[in-house]
Amino acid sequence: MVGADSINLALGEPDFDTPPHIREAVKEALDEGFTHYTGNTGIMELREAICHKLQTENHIQASPESIIVTVGASGALYSCINALVEEKDEVIIPDPGFVAYDACVKLSGGKSVPAPLKDENDFRMLPEDVLEQVTPHTKAILINSPNNPTGAVLEKEDVKGLADIADDHNLILISDEIYDHIIYDKKHYSPASYSDNVITINGFSKTYAMTGFRIGYLAVPPSLMESVLKVHQYSVTCATSISQKAALAALQGPQDSVVQMRDEFQRRRDLVVGRLRDMGIECNQPNGAFYVFPRIDNPEKFTEAALKKDVVLVPGSSFGKYGEGHFRISYATSYEDLQEAMDRLESMEW
Ligand code: PMP
Repeated sequence: MVGADSINLALGEPDFDTPPHIREAVKEALDEGFTHYTGNTGIMELREAICHKLQTENHIQASPESIIVTVGASGALYSCINALVEEKDEVIIPDPGFVAYDACVKLSGGKSVPAPLKDENDFRMLPEDVLEQVTPHTKAILINSPNNPTGAVLEKEDVKGLADIADDHNLILISDEIYDHIIYDKKHYSPASYSDNVITINGFSKTYAMTGFRIGYLAVPPSLMESVLKVHQYSVTCATSISQKAALAALQGPQDSVVQMRDEFQRRRDLVVGRLRDMGIECNQPNGAFYVFPRIDNPEKFTEAALKKDVVLVPGSSFGKYGEGHFRISYATSYEDLQEAMDRLESMEW
């Protein structure tokens, strides 16, 4: 049981309000009666705006015909993994990694194979570690930079190396880029700018604080479009009409709130990393997303002690076997709450 003054550092969603111009766009869409099905792949204006974003920011030459607007990045993951993976197929996933990867692979009857992210490599998913896991059954490699739960950001050579593996072994690289705007001191690289064998996934939940809108997208190579669309179409028909209008406003409107949120996340990261290190807790400097993944001898005992102080944390083992010996802190919570949470962690016996 958590108390009334508990501080939840377990959540993976921005605490900020959705920017006002995005909420206004939804009101307008409602008033205009934009409340019906759209085409299965989403409205053309939005797919064009997504292509513009992918071309200008990520150097991905996508066309509107290669885009499917989905029910969050979660819907994008589900549709492409289900379309690609058959029984006995293997998908290499980052470990520690976002919990839905393993679950989606299993739901489609496949087997997920963990590629270890090690703290001595700053939790980067190194091409040589991935290559060791490639077998004749490997169908796809899933990558996620910036990463949940470690905050790690892949270097250009990592992304290029992973794209080369996909090309050399005729595999599909699924690149989950949902945190591409929440990045500090580093640059984001998209593998689809180096290889055609890539499905790019992104969404609006994190960049624009729009988790409840349930809107994301996929950019799919032409040869896979039909099969991915089939899963999307027969599971959800299309993404929510008014959320598509919200997403369009997000991409076409002012981007200053994105920068402000990113800057505030960085201030919080500096606070949390600094305070943990002052407590003698080993902690890598994450360069993206809004998570810190410190190392500790007995994370279960530590997170239980934290819970007694009404601070909710997640043990690293929740994100895969290589997450053992760590815990995750989400700093998508106010600076003041983070200060209070750090005071409580500092004062606790464990
Ligand atoms: N990918 C990663 C790495 C995530 O952390 C999350 C959300 N926690 C998602 C995908 C799903 O995001 P969405 O809200 O767009 O479904």
